[in-house]
Amino acid sequence: MVKLAVRGRPHKEFHFANSQIFESLSFANMKRSGTKIAMAVLALWVLPLAGFALPARLIIALDGIAYRDMQALQAGITRTNFWGHTYQLRAFTAGEGYYPVSRMISTFPSASDVAWTDIFGDRPLPGYQRTYYSAAANSLIVLNGVTTTMEHERQMDFQVQNGIARGLGYLFPAHTLRYEMHRTVANFLRTTSPRHNYYVYIRASDDAQHLDRDIIKLLCEFDQRLQKLRDVYKQREGHDLEIAILSDHGHNHAGRGIRVEDVTFLEKAGYHVGTEIDGPKDVVLPVVGIESWVEVHCYPAESEILAQKLCDLKGVDLLASIVPGQTNRFLVMNAKRERADIEWNRERNSFRYIPVNGDPLHYQPVVDELRKNQVLDANGFATADEWMAATVTNYYPLALERIARGITRGALNPATILISLDNHYVNDVWFTEKGSRLVTCRSTHGGLDAICSDGIVLSNFQPTHDTSTARVASQFEDFPAVVDYRASEGGGELVTKSEQSLTRLVRTPFDQEFKDLPANGPYLRIWSPKLAGVGENVPVKVTIEKARRFSTSPPPQTVEVQQPITLAQDPPYERIYALPPDLTLEPSTEYNVSAWLQGKSILEFSIHTTPNGKPAAF
Ligand SMILES: [Zn+2]
Repeated sequence: MVKLAVRGRPHKEFHFANSQIFESLSFANMKRSGTKIAMAVLALWVLPLAGFALPARLIIALDGIAYRDMQALQAGITRTNFWGHTYQLRAFTAGEGYYPVSRMISTFPSASDVAWTDIFGDRPLPGYQRTYYSAAANSLIVLNGVTTTMEHERQMDFQVQNGIARGLGYLFPAHTLRYEMHRTVANFLRTTSPRHNYYVYIRASDDAQHLDRDIIKLLCEFDQRLQKLRDVYKQREGHDLEIAILSDHGHNHAGRGIRVEDVTFLEKAGYHVGTEIDGPKDVVLPVVGIESWVEVHCYPAESEILAQKLCDLKGVDLLASIVPGQTNRFLVMNAKRERADIEWNRERNSFRYIPVNGDPLHYQPVVDELRKNQVLDANGFATADEWMAATVTNYYPLALERIARGITRGALNPATILISLDNHYVNDVWFTEKGSRLVTCRSTHGGLDAICSDGIVLSNFQPTHDTSTARVASQFEDFPAVVDYRASEGGGELVTKSEQSLTRLVRTPFDQEFKDLPANGPYLRIWSPKLAGVGENVPVKVTIEKARRFSTSPPPQTVEVQQPITLAQDPPYERIYALPPDLTLEPSTEYNVSAWLQGKSILEFSIHTTPNGKPAAF
């Protein structure tokens, strides 16, 4: 028995049986191998931190776990081994205290960045994926998905940030997933976070399924690790650890898909597939990895014509598009060229389904039922929540809302046409090294259908109910106190009022106070812990230089940013500046922006310019 006097925050005195605790830690195999030295090292490692009460709740963002898989696992899956004997796999059961899993309906496209951003209520990202078409810059912007970290990832208390470890996820997804599981438990037990919730993001669960690893077995392993963690936690804290597990979309497990020939198809139809849009025949098709959806960016006036043509592209299940000239009307068509329109009343957040020619979503029975139950108003509209109740278990769940949101605010640069593929087809980058993944890729997601769209919400402390990425936060107090990464690392961005207004959950003062900015922008927003240490009057120098600079190029341009704009509750580590109105750079070019404080560079980020040489926010 080890007796611990308590240090740090006021907390109870407690005892723990060291043998049980160390047994439970996943790295406790050291004990079995048996040296006293190893035990002493481990004790030293745990003891100084043990005075802190651990967070009450562990929220795990577990990428890509399908509702049907978790539901089956809770009920028990019978398998037959090599010798013909049957055995059962069960996990996250009622016996362990878990409530029945609920659906979490993804965004459309049912893809990670869009869905997690929606779950945590963050401002939409520039693109659905890390390779995206920027309308302001009129160019295809490519970010490295392995080394870039998006807002929802930075908000986590723990996620694997190391690019090498992430890259290994594509090669050894099961090993990487085990590493993430192990680190989740180890980091949680070591945390000194005083907050109620501890957030973790695990991404290799998605890679493991793309590459056909046995996700059911891996989930069973995770359940066991969490069970051990719960035992340790209960001994240490005297009460149960609350666990919530969320996933952002499903996985189709549809086997190796046929590559959709969208580029060839469009070129045969007289379009030019490239990286910018200068006329009605220009199309941009951003794609990352292997997915069951396609985003098409084209001249808005061309969208309806192109949508009708794309119905003949082999592999299309459904496609949705803006209707030219209208902001609240969208068309949805299938491979048989059936068409319906969706009308969105934004003020009431209500939708109307208008079959134009056939019923591509098979929603007519839903409409009939809603009418019979007097849910539809005189104009045929029902609210988003009413449509949700009527379609949450549908083959195309919440389709009206997801199409309308996906094509308007799913990303800051939304597509003009979104295609949901038949699950036997895939969309991929065939010219990159990742193309070789097609050989082993056996599962993907991204489509509008339930198989791709139904993620999970699972908890051991409160019953959950079927929900969607836009709604789930309300079941968890809006996911309070995610990590305020701007307080601890340097960074910057250009922001505009209209884009900032798409942030759903207010996390920082700026999420509300952007409304007080004098114009739409873009404004320069920078943050660094180093700014917190100096007064507001200490000037910041900003330099802008062309990315990929050669030694012969001119020195970086220095931009004078004047007094920061004062908002009511500026955090000390953040500043907002107006850009000089006469700032003009080279058109459609990437620049690196650095901020300098007292002669030292404190942060760096990149921007792109518009075809007029003005800085583009997104
Ligand atoms: Zn995902």
